[in-house]
Amino acid sequence: MKKVVLLIMGIFVLLFEMNAQRLPLGSKPTKDPCTTEMGFAMLPVAVDTTIGRSVANNDVLWENGDVILVKFMNNAGSQQVRNMIMQHAKIWEQYGNITLKFVPDDTEATNIRIKLGSKLDNHGHNSQLGIKCNNVPQYMQTMNLDTSDFIDYKGYIDQYKNGGPFLQFLRNKGTDFKNYTYNDLFRDVIEYKDPFVKWNYDALRGTTAHEFGHALGLLHEQSYPNGIKWNKDTVYKYYAKYQGWNKEKVDFNVLEASDFFYTNGTTYDPKSIMHYPVQAWQTVDGFTVGSNDDLSDGDKKIIAALYPKDKKVSDLAVPKIEVNNINYGDVKTDNVKKGILIYPSFDIKTSALLGAVYLVARLTTEDGLYYIPTTNANYSWNKMAATYIKLKLLPSTKTSINKGTQKNLELFFPFKEMPDLAGKNVKIEFSVYQDDVVNNRYQKLTFNFLSSPVSVPK
Ligand SMILES: [Zn+2]
Repeated sequence: MKKVVLLIMGIFVLLFEMNAQRLPLGSKPTKDPCTTEMGFAMLPVAVDTTIGRSVANNDVLWENGDVILVKFMNNAGSQQVRNMIMQHAKIWEQYGNITLKFVPDDTEATNIRIKLGSKLDNHGHNSQLGIKCNNVPQYMQTMNLDTSDFIDYKGYIDQYKNGGPFLQFLRNKGTDFKNYTYNDLFRDVIEYKDPFVKWNYDALRGTTAHEFGHALGLLHEQSYPNGIKWNKDTVYKYYAKYQGWNKEKVDFNVLEASDFFYTNGTTYDPKSIMHYPVQAWQTVDGFTVGSNDDLSDGDKKIIAALYPKDKKVSDLAVPKIEVNNINYGDVKTDNVKKGILIYPSFDIKTSALLGAVYLVARLTTEDGLYYIPTTNANYSWNKMAATYIKLKLLPSTKTSINKGTQKNLELFFPFKEMPDLAGKNVKIEFSVYQDDVVNNRYQKLTFNFLSSPVSVPK
């Protein structure tokens, strides 16, 4: 986006010098800002361990040392443009212990999939954050790059002015020069498919590195808490006019910051490749950020801290736990043990850090709509009748719970520990929470899962 501003300024300069074929001033062409979504509400890190910089979402980091498989989709893009994108993506490998392995288009399972598009398809530039890429179905892209934003348009404007094959192309297709606009010219250049296209190398390098920063888990640097004193009114107006964004979208993508984000003990870095450009009129104090097309020292440090080459696990890593293949398993009343036996069934996988989870079975009313309050402190979760188990998990393991014929985990809720429910039907709701000690929170890992009704004997 930043490059575009410069590019646009360049175009204006050229246009003012132009006499032979004057372009009427149309609507101002803009490059789409990066629209990667940052919407994970999370609490700030209480303990910062490494002085680096930048904001990252530590919950979505790949495992240190991972080889991430990347491919281009739909046979799009020339080999030349693909080579440049690969080269600039791999810049991160110099500083972090991570490998971006580009594989052929027909590879069936990959982690990152790049869709190369243009202004004509309107996908812009964006990427899934870190391992969230793995949640995207294989037939869909995890990253969009608009290669028409990487074209150097100056030469075409020059041809438009002084004559050349591009002007001839426009004449041949019967162009209406009277009402011709910048956007028309951009679209015509895309359609022209010049085999000798000249690239805006800064835009290509900067945007590619920025989007791969997201793919490795980095967030927008302007989200750094109190990094920028925005002039909100002018920012809303600008994005409404040129991007058609409403207030919420501007808040979300540009202004919102982010007490929520991990700052990793870092300071705000206006030179970060992950920073949007900022114009003086967008801030109340005239602060600006230019076009950052290269990794800053801070970018190099944070990626080295998140993916260290000299140790197995980053000091900044947080435990990650995945729960899959969940189903209720078995729930039954046991009149000998005098209580309800609950056997949830799922697979659970941990990252390189030790993790702990709470397996929580709450009672609900027979319709499954309400939890049941209790005064029993031992059998409650947030003051609602529940039984739970804390499970400590070993690093880098995958465990199947109650998947075989032999049951390996049981939750038990004695009747005498329940509120007075004698003669009533209840349901059991099951969920898994990650005990995120560092952030002093419980993070819910599964959707609620309800059993069939069970009756509590009189
Ligand atoms: Zn971005």
